[in-house]
Amino acid sequence: MKIKIAKDAGYCFGVRDAVNLAYDTAEKYGNVYMLGDIVHNERVVSDLNNAGAKIVDNLNDIPDHSPVLFRAHGTRQDIWEDAKKRNLDIIDATCPLVHEIHHEVKKLEKEGRKIIIIGDHGHDEVIAIANQAKNPLIISNKEQAKNIRKIKKAGIVSQSTQMIENVQEIISVLMKKIFDLRFVNTICFPTKRNHEQIKSMAEDNDIMIIIGSFTSANSKRLTELSKQRNDNSYQVTCADDLNLSWFRGVDSVGISAGASTPDYLIKEVEDKIKNIDKDRI
Ligand code: SF4
Repeated sequence: MKIKIAKDAGYCFGVRDAVNLAYDTAEKYGNVYMLGDIVHNERVVSDLNNAGAKIVDNLNDIPDHSPVLFRAHGTRQDIWEDAKKRNLDIIDATCPLVHEIHHEVKKLEKEGRKIIIIGDHGHDEVIAIANQAKNPLIISNKEQAKNIRKIKKAGIVSQSTQMIENVQEIISVLMKKIFDLRFVNTICFPTKRNHEQIKSMAEDNDIMIIIGSFTSANSKRLTELSKQRNDNSYQVTCADDLNLSWFRGVDSVGISAGASTPDYLIKEVEDKIKNIDKDRI
């Protein structure tokens, strides 16, 4: 069986830097606190926990002067302020591309535009983007776009990991409802590359395996994009989830992984597939 791994499968640079920073800080201080999971991957969170990176629900659970790491997908402004008041040692692991989205939102608002965010309701990155503006609208699909009232002047950004197809559908609905619309395409370049690669790989291979946690919106989107082009697309969290029957009669396998999937999980899946004896399935 030929196996091809997507060039940009797995950690994006923003997540990789944040995870490394968490390990370095835990080593330096003995521990580090984080508000929620640093990435949507249970194995990474558990490994980090063993290294001294503790997850807490709110700042009250962190002793004064302790290090707190703000995660790659951004943090609400009031939490920044609160952490400073409590004299916590803030380690900022916000991805520079997420900082860029916050900056764009502020610029659009200064132009007198109503802010619209195309993204998943309740996702931490979207919550932090929304926190940069006054009463922004969050829209996740075209049905929601159809339900908004007419707006005179609006500025639109998207969550960094959105699919361009979803963003385009929503914008085409909004164009009929907004007189003066400015859209800044804030889908990040690692996401764009990963999405483009999976589209062509799904067409070129007999089967597609996407590695990622089912709590990761990013991994689920990759699976969705792959399934649209190849029915033989399966999401797995690790090598144990592989089902041998999927590989019957298969000559080529494409592998990709969400931005929160560590390299070792990709390697484990690759090794297991390499060892499949097709004749014995
Ligand atoms: S998905 Fe994009 S914006 Fe988010 S952390 Fe990775 S590189 Fe940064």
